[in-house]
Amino acid sequence: MEIEKLLSKIKEYSNSDTTIVELAYDFAKKAHGEQKRASGESYFVHVFEVAYILAELKMDLSTISAGLLHDVLEDTETTPEILKNEFGEEILNLVDGVTKIEGLKFSSKDEEQAENWRKMIIATARDIRVIIIKLADRLHNMRTLEYLSPQRQKEIAYETLTLYAPISHRLGIFNIKNELEDLSFKYLYPEDYNNLKSKVDSNFSEREKILKNFKEEIDKILSKSGIEYKILYRAKNLYSIYRKMQRQNKPFEEIQDTLGIRIITDTVLNCYAVLGLIHSNFKPVANSFTDYIAMPKQNLYQSLHTTVLSNNGEPIEIQIRTEDMHRVAEYGIAAHWRYKHGNAFDEKLNEKLNWARHWIEWLNEIESPREFMEIFKTELDVEEIFVFTPKGDVKALPKGSTPVDFAYHIHTDIGDHCVGAKVNSKIVKLDYELKSGDVCEIITRKNAFPNKDWINFVKSQRARSKIKRYLREHGVEI
Ligand code: MN
Repeated sequence: MEIEKLLSKIKEYSNSDTTIVELAYDFAKKAHGEQKRASGESYFVHVFEVAYILAELKMDLSTISAGLLHDVLEDTETTPEILKNEFGEEILNLVDGVTKIEGLKFSSKDEEQAENWRKMIIATARDIRVIIIKLADRLHNMRTLEYLSPQRQKEIAYETLTLYAPISHRLGIFNIKNELEDLSFKYLYPEDYNNLKSKVDSNFSEREKILKNFKEEIDKILSKSGIEYKILYRAKNLYSIYRKMQRQNKPFEEIQDTLGIRIITDTVLNCYAVLGLIHSNFKPVANSFTDYIAMPKQNLYQSLHTTVLSNNGEPIEIQIRTEDMHRVAEYGIAAHWRYKHGNAFDEKLNEKLNWARHWIEWLNEIESPREFMEIFKTELDVEEIFVFTPKGDVKALPKGSTPVDFAYHIHTDIGDHCVGAKVNSKIVKLDYELKSGDVCEIITRKNAFPNKDWINFVKSQRARSKIKRYLREHGVEI
């Protein structure tokens, strides 16, 4: 956790002045002081490793600095004012965003609740970089989970698998998604994990031999073509194999695409050229071809996928893509984030790639990084808010909802007898506008009844119709 290690990682992709990172490093080191983690290591190691993961994702310097500082508001004496004075508003907002997400306490086992939680985490973050810091934070916590009690391990692993792995999937950050899934799998189902891992490990060398032979065959063909290319081996992550076994109710031995190869070439045209050469030399397996270059996935993933039979008759899955597509496939939205940071390599990316339709407009129109972030903010500006009951259940409500909407959302009786509300323990007016993450408590009185003014400020159709019904049934004119 020497600063040089972090700085040299950053130098691999950025020429920017790293003073801000150095300041953040010193500040965090001092702020966390002697604090220790469950492993007995100094707490600073954790924030350093989080910043290092962010540098591996090639994030901008504000994000890396915020990674170093991400726990100072939560765990040290540092106030938002101090942070703002020392590092400015942008970094304060990033750290503050991560702290807010940390404050959310997920407890549910209910799938629908989990979906609300995922949406809420994204809504709470506002800035996509907050989520990326949070994912790096979670990844390092998962890597060091062995030091916690078995009970805590399972809770955190469950939360990771339910909330954070799907979020990283949606953002297309597959490196992090795969590692989060496999680590969660290991702690949640240790026996299945160990069984599968030993099977995969022993099968690996056998498959690798097959792939090596196949690679030599491909080398012969492609080297004659003059096309630039490189070949990588690809291993499916353990949890994906496990899911596939369960979904298809098959033993490991019958799962075919656990290993494959990737061919990385320089242009889109050459992707198709490579495909043509492969299909004309090896027999493709029926229905195995998919063109994700012409039709990218929602998370912007692009590649050509095909499965062919090797000369020995083994089915081999092949993915063909450009270097740019490869980066997107590995780093997802984090790769796009770099797009507007003056990197010539990434400029070319935009010309060449056929972006998913709903992203095209903004990628072409964006002038500055700031604007880019603004667009991300609107992108994240969801139409729902997520509010907690005092017991920690989360309710999704339309944006602009009030405590009255919330009351009717819990139960008609609560709405009908509502007289006041507390939000985050403070008394508020009934037309108060709730925000994501608020904890709302409704005060009721038996002989109270709805006020017809409520109709003017409630946002949800449900609350409005319940109020009207009550008033009609009790002869009040609306
Ligand atoms: Mn942390």
